[in-house]
Amino acid sequence: MTKPTLQSKSIEELNEWLAGIGEPSFRAKQIFEWAQNYASVSEMTNIPKPLREKIDAEFCVAPVIIEREFISKDGTHKFLYKLSDGELIEGVLMKYKYGNTLCVSTQVGCRMGCSFCASGIDGLIRNLDAGEILGQVLCVNKHLGGSTTDRKVTNIVLMGSGEPLDNFDNVVKFIKLASATEGINISQRNISLSTCGLADKIRRLTDENLGITLTISLHATTDESRKKLMKIANAYTLVELMDAVRYYFDKTRRRVVFEYIMLKENTTHQDALRLRSLTRGIACHVNLIPANPSPETNIKPLTKERETKFWQALKDAGLTATTRRTLGSDIEGACGQLKRRVLKDSI
Ligand code: SAH
Repeated sequence: MTKPTLQSKSIEELNEWLAGIGEPSFRAKQIFEWAQNYASVSEMTNIPKPLREKIDAEFCVAPVIIEREFISKDGTHKFLYKLSDGELIEGVLMKYKYGNTLCVSTQVGCRMGCSFCASGIDGLIRNLDAGEILGQVLCVNKHLGGSTTDRKVTNIVLMGSGEPLDNFDNVVKFIKLASATEGINISQRNISLSTCGLADKIRRLTDENLGITLTISLHATTDESRKKLMKIANAYTLVELMDAVRYYFDKTRRRVVFEYIMLKENTTHQDALRLRSLTRGIACHVNLIPANPSPETNIKPLTKERETKFWQALKDAGLTATTRRTLGSDIEGACGQLKRRVLKDSI
């Protein structure tokens, strides 16, 4: 990426840029609004042509382009996006009664190396900047006929490829821009950040005082079993992770979500009891995820009966848990799977 993305700039930052080139400051809000509607420079009709040319020369105005779109039988949309340097990322739009949730990526690839996840197989390629993360939301919103005043994307989950807290500054900036009243104005309550558990960054995130939902990819109830699934468990023990989550909860009083992929090795009765004691003192919800198999990761889903049995065991232990609906499995909805298939097919 050579030029900075227009969508990563706040009104204040645009103001500074305009001051530096001798343009009036009232243009900052106009440019910001166009950027948030993902307008091309030719669409910026209330901006004089010479200034439009300067915008075009200075910034990357369309950092994310929809390269392909797949629509599942259940109405889920899967997008393959191209970035300005040719890198590919993916995203999923899920339709619910209360609105449309877009799952966004925060990095090209990922360096967390979770054993079940297709995003990390080739490691981290690069971080996305705030405008590239926001660009996914804005380009899908526009693609669906929406604008900043008529939103077609109402909720955001940071659950695409990448580890959001491994790209901390860009992700925090993205959250602030996505919830800006002059922009697409998605309430922070409608934004969920999912992390594999970088405990020190969870504390830093807490201190940012955002109103988002924190989601922890837990997936195991002992350090030994978590280490087998997730490399990050070597860096932080469950005690360290849960201490950081407790810090978050105590400070924000916001309910935390724990994600839990149901596998043969992590769904015993003992796991249910340990999950209860690990989360003691934290208002939380457990989101049970049926394992999404992919050719590269070799994970197997449980039978429906075993999934229900584990859900019941959690309920009996006093936890609230729901099983995530499997949307878009016919279009390879899980992290990193679509990109891998498309790249493989094109070789
Ligand atoms: N890095 C972040 C966000 C991306 S993953 C995190 O780890 O939370 C979003 C969620 O999908 C995580 O809970 C992740 O563990 C889960 N996931 C990844 N691959 C999966 C698969 N094959 N089947 C089911 N869930 C998967």
